[in-house]
Amino acid sequence: MKETNYIFITGGVTSSLGKGIISSSLAKLLKARGFSVTIQKLDPYINIDPGTLNPYEHGECFVTDDGAETDLDLGHYERFTDVRTSQANNVTTGRIYQTVIDKERRGDYLGKTVQIIPHITDEIQRRIRLLGKEDYDFVITEIGGTVGDIESFPYIEAIRQLKWNLEGRTIVIHLTLVPYLSTSKELKTKPTQHSVKMLLENGVQPDILVLRTERTLTKEVREKVAKFCNVNLSSVIESIDASTIYEVPILMQKEKLDEVVLQKFKIPYKETVDLERWKSVIKKIKNSTCSLKIALVGKYVELPDAYKSINESLIHAGAAIDCKPKITFLHSEKIEESSVKKLLKDFDGIIVAPGFGHRGIEGKITAIKFARENNIPFFGICLGMQCAVIEFARNVLKLKDANSTEMHQNTPFPVIDLMEEQKNINDLGGTMRLGAYKCVLNEKSKLIKEYNKKDISERHRHRYEFNNEYKKEFENKGMMATGINPNSGLVEIVEIENHKWFVGVQFHPEYKSTVLNPHPVFISFLKACKKK
Ligand code: GLN
Repeated sequence: MKETNYIFITGGVTSSLGKGIISSSLAKLLKARGFSVTIQKLDPYINIDPGTLNPYEHGECFVTDDGAETDLDLGHYERFTDVRTSQANNVTTGRIYQTVIDKERRGDYLGKTVQIIPHITDEIQRRIRLLGKEDYDFVITEIGGTVGDIESFPYIEAIRQLKWNLEGRTIVIHLTLVPYLSTSKELKTKPTQHSVKMLLENGVQPDILVLRTERTLTKEVREKVAKFCNVNLSSVIESIDASTIYEVPILMQKEKLDEVVLQKFKIPYKETVDLERWKSVIKKIKNSTCSLKIALVGKYVELPDAYKSINESLIHAGAAIDCKPKITFLHSEKIEESSVKKLLKDFDGIIVAPGFGHRGIEGKITAIKFARENNIPFFGICLGMQCAVIEFARNVLKLKDANSTEMHQNTPFPVIDLMEEQKNINDLGGTMRLGAYKCVLNEKSKLIKEYNKKDISERHRHRYEFNNEYKKEFENKGMMATGINPNSGLVEIVEIENHKWFVGVQFHPEYKSTVLNPHPVFISFLKACKKK
């Protein structure tokens, strides 16, 4: 069993500096050097997981193979590294407290007062070290939030203790902002100094500082930060804004972040790392001259983070066929019979997004009708697939007011219905059909060519399903169930035979696309859009 090294990533000054991207980039570089790495996110909110959070609050909820509903940063970790994450890779304050309180009720602390230190901080440390048991060379742990937040304190304290408990096997990387003041034409280091001071007040000296900046850091700025924040000059790393997040590993390599990390752990390393394949994908992402206009119809369009994985999957698949997808987010509530043509006619392909609840449903159905009748490539994901089924039922099978029982409980034609195993569930947290399930494709599927196999496994997050009582009727009119779960018979994929490309999937292919392994369904969709 190897000795795992632990890297902590904290953030200061403001949120949204891109700790997830820095963590992913470092993991990418270490992996390229042959080390095994995993990344973990500790989130300081009280929810047990983000599954019950509205996308407006927290962006997309990412789902792992083992059915964890997680922070969207785990999506970045997988997309950068191709290392699959699991339940253990995302822990919230809610989960930490729940474990400690359950132990207290069992009597595990009998006679003792249960406190933040040591009980909560011990549980945080246990969760961090749990991943080390899986034989990784490095566990990178990203602490959500900003240093100085009340919620983050127990995590910073746990890191302080771990630095002692795992002497020589931990380092702390602190990410801050160096703002540029246009009036004085200067980069300012004071926020970074204050942020490091705050960490020091909590007993933690960062080993490496990554400075987010719009402009190149001068030597003077780097020296000033090094001097005031007690780090060597080589440990002051610039993180300049990049045109694509996938360029960040290359920028970090130029800044020698991985080398500085390995020096801190006293691990010998070779000078060169091979990132050629990665670089060739980035080149295509940045420079391909063909462009495809894709409409993404959803109801959280003001917030692109709500559809992060779909957005990134399109970028990966675009690079694979050397085309840049230009994604326009369209609000489904704005799409009506009278406006649909004007809104959608110029697109090469239309995606209808996943979602919950009835708001915006009719607009999605109207968009799908337009795509079906005008032979425009259509791709429905989860709720998008369910809406395609409803549209077909209403307008082709002439089942008036057909619906999903999620939207209309007493619909005369429940073509989408609650799954049997969901009927007795009352709690809403973590109770959907979650994670990876098998699906078998049949010969009729247009997707077989791109998957290059019949047995696939994809990730899920839903409660409702295609109602098999209507399957024959649909197939008689040309909407085929082309992918089926072999154990339950649940319809995973529907396709329309006489259409350029009309595919609805009950699963979420976007959770499995990575930069180096773009997803077959997204590639197949973009190829159809390109033909248009
Ligand atoms: N609301 C639908 C269901 O629960 C679809 C969910 C989704 O799009 N992720 O089945």
